[in-house]
Amino acid sequence: MNLFNFTHSDLVEFFTQRGEKPFRASQILKWVHQMGVVDFDEMTNLSKVLRQRLKDETTLTLPKVVTVQVSHDGTRKWLLQLECSNQIEMVFIPEDDRGTLCVSSQVGCPLNCSFCATGKQGFNRNLEVSEIIGQLWLAEHSLRQEGFRAEEHGRIISNVVFMGMGEPLTNFNNVIKAIELMRDDFCYGLSWRRITVSTAGIVPAIARLKETSPVCLAISLHAPNDELRNKLVPLNKKYPLASLIAACREYVKDDDRLKLTFEYVMLRGINDSVDHAKALVKLMRHLPAKVNLIPFNPFPQSPYERSTQEVIDTFRNILLAADIMTITRKTRGDDIDAACGQLAGKVVDKTRRIPILMEQD
Ligand code: SAH
Repeated sequence: MNLFNFTHSDLVEFFTQRGEKPFRASQILKWVHQMGVVDFDEMTNLSKVLRQRLKDETTLTLPKVVTVQVSHDGTRKWLLQLECSNQIEMVFIPEDDRGTLCVSSQVGCPLNCSFCATGKQGFNRNLEVSEIIGQLWLAEHSLRQEGFRAEEHGRIISNVVFMGMGEPLTNFNNVIKAIELMRDDFCYGLSWRRITVSTAGIVPAIARLKETSPVCLAISLHAPNDELRNKLVPLNKKYPLASLIAACREYVKDDDRLKLTFEYVMLRGINDSVDHAKALVKLMRHLPAKVNLIPFNPFPQSPYERSTQEVIDTFRNILLAADIMTITRKTRGDDIDAACGQLAGKVVDKTRRIPILMEQD
């Protein structure tokens, strides 16, 4: 039993089943997630007997850091070893007013978008809760140890985005539990406003996300019509644009605090014309969302090129003129292959791509 898989309520149940007081749960969470202690012997407010029992029955196991690379712009990428020889990556992006951690939710990705290195790697499996929250633990505590400057509230990671390897909404339950731990005041105390789930558009899961754990939502749109989107994001054949846009509308309905962003990768000569921009404006009519244009990041054997700066600016100006808040995402960490869509890790046994997608359907 790896206690990194346990949420607050899981731990309360664990302790009460063993005749212990429920507050042991918050004590353990504080030691582990706030203070970074994973040795039961150091948890001095627990009795010796309880510590021994925890040692006998449980573990606190984390992914192992294989390498850390630091970009010229300060972005960091960790390669993490999981059990069974799979490896995943996570990225820390420091900015003046925030520190963002980009976490992975799966080993590889089942969706196979044609412009994404992770998709090209294939898919092995969903990450466990421990492997998702473990990324935040490793980043926060290793950066603290290095003497990184923490923000006022004592945290280095102020924002988490599920934009690493994988499609978070096809690993729904584990992602939700990891978010619960991120938000727990005895752990990281992150506001839901500082957590973003990015999806290629698993339509039924978007409503479930709003019901169970409303956070900021980013949609990887990349095309304003079905014909093109079917080619770029094959998932679109299952959940076409009309159903995706309807789900987005529902997500932000009756709650203007919920933020919606469309991500749009700029592929030269593919989806970056004036007509595409105009079609996008039409598609987004009356939808309170902003747009992040992402200049395409190349990877070995990628069949696309990045749009020119001029084309990106023209595209952006068309959206701005229609009152759509649009920014061009700054490329960070591309010298260490840490930019959007470049995460690869190491995915063994990639044969499970199709079955998993069917399972979710
Ligand atoms: N599967 C989820 C999470 C991945 S987020 C999703 O699709 O939203 C990673 C973001 O980077 C997505 O918007 C993805 O479409 C984008 N991306 C993928 N490959 C890219 C590339 N080569 N260059 C720029 N952005 C890319």
